[in-house]
Amino acid sequence: LGMPSVPAKLAERRVSRKIQVGPVAVGGDAPISVQSMTTTVTADIGATLQQIAELTASGCQIVRVACPSQDDADALPVIAKKSQIPVIADIHFQPKYVFAAIDAGCAAVRVNPGNIRQFDDKVKEIARAASDAGVPIRIGVNAGSLDKRLLEKYGKATPEALVESALWECSLFEEHGFRDIKISVKHNDPVVMVNAYRQLAAQCDYPLHLGVTEAGPAFQGTIKSAVAFGALLSEGIGDTIRVSLSAPPAEEVKVGIQILESLNLRQRRLEIVSCPSCGRAQVDVYKLADEVTAGLEGMEVPLRVAVMGCVVNGPGEAREADLGVASGNGKGQIFVKGEVIKTVPESKIVETLIDEAMKIAEQMEKDGIAS
Ligand code: SF4
Repeated sequence: LGMPSVPAKLAERRVSRKIQVGPVAVGGDAPISVQSMTTTVTADIGATLQQIAELTASGCQIVRVACPSQDDADALPVIAKKSQIPVIADIHFQPKYVFAAIDAGCAAVRVNPGNIRQFDDKVKEIARAASDAGVPIRIGVNAGSLDKRLLEKYGKATPEALVESALWECSLFEEHGFRDIKISVKHNDPVVMVNAYRQLAAQCDYPLHLGVTEAGPAFQGTIKSAVAFGALLSEGIGDTIRVSLSAPPAEEVKVGIQILESLNLRQRRLEIVSCPSCGRAQVDVYKLADEVTAGLEGMEVPLRVAVMGCVVNGPGEAREADLGVASGNGKGQIFVKGEVIKTVPESKIVETLIDEAMKIAEQMEKDGIAS
């Protein structure tokens, strides 16, 4: 089997300063991390911690919680303490909750410069409190809540307006020597968003948190995020990502991880290479691919399994994978490491693939090839 080869890269990563969100490094040479946000009322500590546990299990590395009220702020110490992944408090409107979040032990605080009134007067105090606690600040600009001054200047939330808002806010912190910052400039239009991040990337060295805001329901949001993040990450831009979906947050994490894996920015785990099927297929490829996917769910090793409908591309793809099947004439040729190891009747294809996959996975784990 051997070690997996070094994955192909699209671009060198943009050089950014590295910050620490609790134990998770963001920026510099740190791996790109996947974030999500809880949908529970933060003050409901049990429900929030339950959702954070689900997110953690799905691979989420940093979680954000909303903090719109005093009750939510009061819940932060327990949530920050009990969460297994770093918690970022998301603060709009009220500077006092920034201090509460820092005192609560949150790993970072997100502020929105567009809607925190009198925020500018508070920057000095916030910078000092955050600096003393080693807590970074995310300056999270959002097209929907852009600073009124900039909205008047630019007429709408253009890339320039989003970037100016973010950099203006950074400059206020920089005046107090505070540079423990990451930035996001989110917009619901992937094209505006990509242009905004490109401009931002060229104008500062802060790590960037990518997001297409209000991306929509799962199908549309997944595509918008994949396209926008794909464009930026392929240019080396982006240090942490959040896919926003009108769907359970664990779905956001799955999509985020898949985007990173697709770009070879994270080692792939189980990968099913299945053909789309066509008039030549001699087996129900969709059913076969679904059954194999279900049977191998949760597999942590980077196993590539080819499920092919016929003998045209079947043997070729199946040979390139760790394991594969090429179907034909009611039978399946099972390939392991490029060799046909057996031919089984169609009814035995799924169980044979799963059996063989388990054997290979066990060997990979012994050899230390886990993702
Ligand atoms: Fe069609 Fe065979 Fe290619 Fe599948 S592998 S798409 S069935 S030609």
